[in-house]
Amino acid sequence: MYQAPRGTADLLPDVQPYWSFVRSQAESVARSFGYGRIDTPIFEDTGLFLRTVGEETDIVQKEMYSFKDRGDQNLTLRPEGTAPVCRAYLEQGMRNLAQPVRLFYTCPMFRYDRPQAGRYRQFHQFGVEAIGDGDAAVDVEVIQLAMTMLGSLGLSDLTLVLNSIGDATDRPAYLNALRDYFSPHLDKLGADDRRRFDTNPLRLLDSKDPAVQPLLENAPRSVDHLGGPAQEHWEQLKAYLNDVGVHYEEDHRLVRGLDYYTRTVFEIHPKVEGAQSAICAGGRYDGLIEQLGGPSTPGIGFAAGIERMILNLQRQNIEPPPDRPAPVVVAYRGDSAKSRGLQLAAVLRSEGLTVILAPERSLKAQMRYASSVGASQVLILGEAELAKDVVTLRDMAAGEQHEVPIADAGRHIVGT
Ligand code: ATP
Ligand code: MG
Repeated sequence: MYQAPRGTADLLPDVQPYWSFVRSQAESVARSFGYGRIDTPIFEDTGLFLRTVGEETDIVQKEMYSFKDRGDQNLTLRPEGTAPVCRAYLEQGMRNLAQPVRLFYTCPMFRYDRPQAGRYRQFHQFGVEAIGDGDAAVDVEVIQLAMTMLGSLGLSDLTLVLNSIGDATDRPAYLNALRDYFSPHLDKLGADDRRRFDTNPLRLLDSKDPAVQPLLENAPRSVDHLGGPAQEHWEQLKAYLNDVGVHYEEDHRLVRGLDYYTRTVFEIHPKVEGAQSAICAGGRYDGLIEQLGGPSTPGIGFAAGIERMILNLQRQNIEPPPDRPAPVVVAYRGDSAKSRGLQLAAVLRSEGLTVILAPERSLKAQMRYASSVGASQVLILGEAELAKDVVTLRDMAAGEQHEVPIADAGRHIVGT
């Protein structure tokens, strides 16, 4: 017997209400901030991710699903959304539109991650990107969008953590400070962290190694190494957040797992801590478009894991609204009633109702079937009904029934 590949899931109809709820809330909040939907391909040139996400990141080091196609192209299943959206921004000439261009996406992502609750190999993100304006007010709106979206799902007890990692020009001095700080402690670093020390010491702040944690407490802070413009942007961002009443915690260790970030980085966590606690994460990437060969163009965005949002809805006992109306079941006794039932079902569907023809069983078994599919009402056709051109309409909740003319059965069905 085949099984779904490890880290993937089959989403059956009974969990779909969560998915529709999250997607539709996210989409309507994004639209209320002026965002339009973008869909990019599920696979891209491998180089797009290598060059932007960064050689030294978990994604590139160990998580990409990369393959050569039959034409010898190196392709990768999309592990994240920002690089593809920026590629499309350039390729489709979106810099000729009014800036910033505001885009949202909701789609599957693929990472060879270690599967556990809230962590999969095929997972889904809802994300937004605002490209073409570096103003701190744009950062605030992106953060507000994320918080509003999570709030619209009914999620409470969320913490927004915030940091600034400065501009590319501020980076060398900060990396030197980190190297100076860590160099007396090289013996305490594992192989991965030892390599990060050489290639990108910023990543050390993200180390999950328990032995390194105490060292991180007093590590140099990026906010103490900001150049003038990044400093001003950081102060402006915090002032605006205070103005709009968005609470945040500064976290000097927050650096994020992708290399393209500059200035603002943020994450949103539920209060209940866990290894995969970030529901939503994002930041500014002012150098990314240029890195892809375009003109210098600022950008900021975030991505929220849909599975993690659903996990938190379930943890907080939040029920999504039903994603489809309760069906009307057409039950019948006898061949001519069955044929009449098929016609009636078709008519009622054309009137906008959800209708299921009962399977051919005894009337009693058809009624049991109707209650097991959650029918609100059952229309019963037998020889007696056919003779009179009526149908018996049974209300399942009330347990009451009465006859109505077949021709206008639809009008008698109470809205579900
Ligand atoms: P983590 O540290 O949990 O691996 P990350 O930094 O790799 O997260 P991002 O690249 O920032 O994650 O992705 C943004 C969001 O996407 C995360 O906050 C999370 O909600 C979700 N996400 C990331 N990886 C997975 C995964 N393997 N399965 C499910 N959701 C994920
Ligand atoms: Mg990860």
